[in-house]
Amino acid sequence: MNKLILPIILVLTISVLVSYRAADSAIDGKAFAKHIKVLASDAFEGRKPFSPGEAKTIEYLKTEFEKIGLKPGNGKSYFQEVPMVDIVSTPAGPLVMKGKDGEISLNYLTDYVAATRRVQDQVKVENSEMVFAGYGIVAPEYGWNDYAGLDVKGKTVLVLVNDPGIVDDKLFKGNTMTYYGRWTYKFEEAARQGATGVLIVHDTGPASYGWSVVRSGWSKSKLYLQAEDDNRSRAAMEGWITLESAKKLFKLAGVSPDIMHKASQEGFKPVPLGVKTSLVINNTFKKSISHNVIALLPGTSRANEYVFYTAHWDHLGKGEPINGDSIYNGAADDASGTAALMEIATAFTKLKKKPARSIVFLVVTAEEQGLLGSEYYCTHPVFPLDKTVADINMDVLQPFGRTKDVIVVGKGQSDLDDYIEAAAKKQDRFTRGEPNPSGGWYFRSDHFNFAKVGVPSLYIENGVISRQHGEEWGKQQKEEFNLYRYHMPTDEYNDKWDLSGIVEDMTLLYEVGYRIGNETIYPGWKSGSEFKAARDKMLKK
Ligand SMILES: [Zn+2]
Repeated sequence: MNKLILPIILVLTISVLVSYRAADSAIDGKAFAKHIKVLASDAFEGRKPFSPGEAKTIEYLKTEFEKIGLKPGNGKSYFQEVPMVDIVSTPAGPLVMKGKDGEISLNYLTDYVAATRRVQDQVKVENSEMVFAGYGIVAPEYGWNDYAGLDVKGKTVLVLVNDPGIVDDKLFKGNTMTYYGRWTYKFEEAARQGATGVLIVHDTGPASYGWSVVRSGWSKSKLYLQAEDDNRSRAAMEGWITLESAKKLFKLAGVSPDIMHKASQEGFKPVPLGVKTSLVINNTFKKSISHNVIALLPGTSRANEYVFYTAHWDHLGKGEPINGDSIYNGAADDASGTAALMEIATAFTKLKKKPARSIVFLVVTAEEQGLLGSEYYCTHPVFPLDKTVADINMDVLQPFGRTKDVIVVGKGQSDLDDYIEAAAKKQDRFTRGEPNPSGGWYFRSDHFNFAKVGVPSLYIENGVISRQHGEEWGKQQKEEFNLYRYHMPTDEYNDKWDLSGIVEDMTLLYEVGYRIGNETIYPGWKSGSEFKAARDKMLKK
């Protein structure tokens, strides 16, 4: 090391620490509480895109960004228009499956859900032959092809959720779910194969959520990004059936339900079921524009390089009432991330010396509809992706108090792990991976779209080792949230929330962004990450 470098580093470090302190004091949860109260209130109607709740939400965010002195992030505007289509798909009756020796009919919502992305008044699936296609995965890097030798044109494929690694540790990434395990992938692949219909067998373990989550997500209208072909390249019918229904179907087909287990064995071959299915789906649709909200803190010396903070402003809106409450307030999901983004933004604006790089605050729409706002941003970026240094995403911050651990979702993916670890150490905390990596959480929020296009992305969850009540208690809080509040009208804010853990997590994320904002290097993907190739290609250009 050159003799001069050490003193320079010391001076830089001290000045960085001094700035940290100045801004740290700004993160105290006050702005967080103020924003979450408004965003999660009944007046905002659960913040569904296109609803009066959207208008209120985006106007609120714009006004607050203006108040704290951030610049519009999209030219002269704080908004990016996201063209979407809102489709209400209503199956005309039960899902009928006819075998040689009888038939079964599945009831909508209790046994199955189905919809179509095709922008047309009606789709008809008539006597479509059913094939069990295992996990419905084509993954050359794992030597896996569930569609090998199979022509599914006109047919309806039945597939399992997750990937074979959930059964056999030696396959794929073992217990860590790959993108091939996600339901969105199953539909994408079935469409590439030309299938008419695709039905996923729900199973609480591998899915990591119960049928109620599928049911509530599919019983309302669904949003999609507008496509030039009006989604005619997608399967006519996309849906899920319960595990019980799948067992009935296998019985009708005269095949043992063991084939679900065989699907995870190498050399698995798809199984024609000798069953034909029919369903008519009626559609009403409306094309509309929703909005991402973007604000900018220009960098002081490298303003053409960007560090992103993201959260999603949307939630599920109004839906099926549970215990008389039909407003899905989405306080934790994701009024909390949005409020945290506002608090962090506020802290940055209070810095005496602003970061060298620009900091972008992007609050996206339609995450709950399949990460649509962030997908639109990443395919229509306002700032060049090869100058986008990192994305720090916030989705669901929990009021369970301070913890000893920080859960890094997708730990091992990128160098950002090291940044969060350093920041955690200062709080006498440690980082670790997801306790349940089979849930595929790295693919379930907006940072995933940044990852897909190559931008290193960080997503943390609050830890579970409660400083006050220990680990069992912490785990229980999370389980209770998943069972009783996640995507339900009970996800509400109240003044008894313990914000101390959220304050610590916001401080961590603030520090990571601050540090990257003042560096010159580009944190990268770790070797073995499925996203590394995209970044390498982008930065070489
Ligand atoms: Zn969310």
